[in-house]
Amino acid sequence: MSTPTREQILNMPASPEMDALVQRTFVGYSSVRKPWSTDIAAAMEMEDEMKAPAMRRPYIEELLSICSSPPDCTCDLGVGACDACWFAVAHASSLDRCRAALLATLED
Ligand SMILES: [Zn+2]
Repeated sequence: MSTPTREQILNMPASPEMDALVQRTFVGYSSVRKPWSTDIAAAMEMEDEMKAPAMRRPYIEELLSICSSPPDCTCDLGVGACDACWFAVAHASSLDRCRAALLATLED
């Protein structure tokens, strides 16, 4: 499986394919396989695999971008994000979390 593009990740549904990508990228094939993209508890375990602090900011920035609420919110995503956007991040789905994590690993 080659590395998907940004657009492919954003359009990828929660699926065994996405679970396999997350497994490969964050957890390793030798570890227990979980439904990362469909199970919120599993998605939060995936977040725990982001041990490098340098990974966390790109991740939260991608998550904020994915979750911005309403989707076309014009607030200044980042430090200046509005309460609705931060609240949407707090409620990010397992799929949103997996997409953001995979996007954060892409080289721009
Ligand atoms: Zn906003």
